[in-house]
Amino acid sequence: MAKNWYPIVDVEKCVSCGLCIDHCKKGVYEKGQKKPNILAPDNCSFMCECCSKLCPVEAISYYSEPTLFKISKGHGGCGH
Ligand code: SF4
Ligand code: SF4
Repeated sequence: MAKNWYPIVDVEKCVSCGLCIDHCKKGVYEKGQKKPNILAPDNCSFMCECCSKLCPVEAISYYSEPTLFKISKGHGGCGH
């Protein structure tokens, strides 16, 4: 899958609601946790932003080669 696109969680902002973990169907996050632990970044769907849209505190951004940037909300679509 997307080796050049995966979520990055700002642990300082995260309030451990577990929404991102529950929502992702790609196995990117370790299930059964409230604090996101990224197990399989390569499973992330390129340009999927579903978990960041759900996050109540905007703690999720994405790594994308060749540049690191925080993508704005409202673009892209659900990749699964
Ligand atoms: S962007 Fe989509 S595929 Fe990637 S971790 Fe979030 S919900 Fe899962
Ligand atoms: S949705 Fe946001 S606040 Fe909730 S667990 Fe994920 S990163 Fe943390």
